[in-house]
Amino acid sequence: MKLLMHTCCAPCSVYCIEELRVEGIEPTVYWYNPNIHPYTEYKARRDCLKEYTKNINVEAIFEDNYGLDEFCKNVVCDLQNRCQDYCYPVRLEQTAKYAKEHGFDTITTTLLVSPYQKHDIIKRLAEEIAKKYGLKFLYRDFRVGFKVGQARARELGLYIQKYCGCIFSERGRYLGEDFLPPKLPEDFEFLPVKHSINIKKERDNKEQYLELLLEADPSKEMINKYLSNGELFVLTNDDEPACIAVTIKIDDDTIELKNIVTKENYREKGFAKKMIKYLVDNYKTRYKKMIVGTTENNIPFYVKQAFDKYEKTIKNYFVDNYDKEIKDGNLICTDLIYYSRDLKNN
Ligand code: SF4
Repeated sequence: MKLLMHTCCAPCSVYCIEELRVEGIEPTVYWYNPNIHPYTEYKARRDCLKEYTKNINVEAIFEDNYGLDEFCKNVVCDLQNRCQDYCYPVRLEQTAKYAKEHGFDTITTTLLVSPYQKHDIIKRLAEEIAKKYGLKFLYRDFRVGFKVGQARARELGLYIQKYCGCIFSERGRYLGEDFLPPKLPEDFEFLPVKHSINIKKERDNKEQYLELLLEADPSKEMINKYLSNGELFVLTNDDEPACIAVTIKIDDDTIELKNIVTKENYREKGFAKKMIKYLVDNYKTRYKKMIVGTTENNIPFYVKQAFDKYEKTIKNYFVDNYDKEIKDGNLICTDLIYYSRDLKNN
């Protein structure tokens, strides 16, 4: 089977791709969504999908078309029925057309994962359009994995949209109009989300984590220097922050892990390891290496996490930069020792 999967965004694709791969089916992702407005939203969803598909090594085709004018012209006379009359068919039709012209024999769509979409109508339209182009339509009720997919997307730090896509659904988000989710079948059950560990980038109010960050770096002044320009990531366990990391760009090839700290009651549970793995996945398409400066005591931990290349030592770093003596267990800290991890071959 050569499957082209119309894909509306990265979060909706997570469960569909994982599930198809379990079945031994490798989809090619097809981005064609002229219904996403405004442009900043269109770009955020498209770029997130680009990065995600690259990270998970799935083939992806991007048909760029920010179709605001065309979309509005076609839906304005009957806004109530815009989804089934224009938005679904235009995307499915273009997917089928591309599939036919490029040697695919089957199509499907990630629209089938959303309990907020008109599932039965999408199924019927996809069947009809596939038939018209002499293709097969692969149907799965991906909705069962909607919650699992969303939880995974949050864990991966993917951009998650707040509304369906068009400017009318964006209005509906704020004014609460126009939208009642379709009824699910009576015997319908979502697959349970098995774990509740999430990692996300915190863009606002990073100072709220200062107290925790001070456990790894006891100088407020030093933390403030890198916190404002750095990126802060929070790993939550059942919604409680358990591990925090701050990174900072050094140059176009290098990202530095400036601070990583796990809350006392969560230590020895592998959270820091999880956070590092997440950061590596997040940065591997943008940087060549990640560096970390550490005390002697922590070198074995970082080497285990593949920071296995010695970079440099800054002599007397802790003596010169901190007002008081810094201790790490029994060690009085003096030098800062840098190790790096190759992000391209890891
Ligand atoms: S609400 Fe969603 S599916 Fe309906 S027209 Fe808008 S973007 Fe398309």
